[in-house]
Amino acid sequence: MGGVAVSTPECDWCNDTGTVTGYGYFPGGDPRTFSPDPEMNTPEEMAAWEKACAAYEQDETPDQRDGCVWIRGVKITRCRFGIGGYAAPCPFCEKGEQP
Ligand SMILES: [Zn+2]
Repeated sequence: MGGVAVSTPECDWCNDTGTVTGYGYFPGGDPRTFSPDPEMNTPEEMAAWEKACAAYEQDETPDQRDGCVWIRGVKITRCRFGIGGYAAPCPFCEKGEQP
């Protein structure tokens, strides 16, 4: 957590907050940072998310067998978790990179 960059990065991804917040598909990483919207998602999607959270607590590896696609380090599409709110660590600031 937290970058070690000496210079101040202008991170468009998180506006230098180190956290990416929003509403949409699960962005990747710790599934517990994601809150599926029960009004938008099917019971299957809610169950998939709960299962991923439980799995993550045992072994900190996000479930990548759910058809999610990684784009530029961020898992964004076709996630079985459906749609919801999230607050995830910025994947770029974590690595000290810029988008
Ligand atoms: Zn960032």
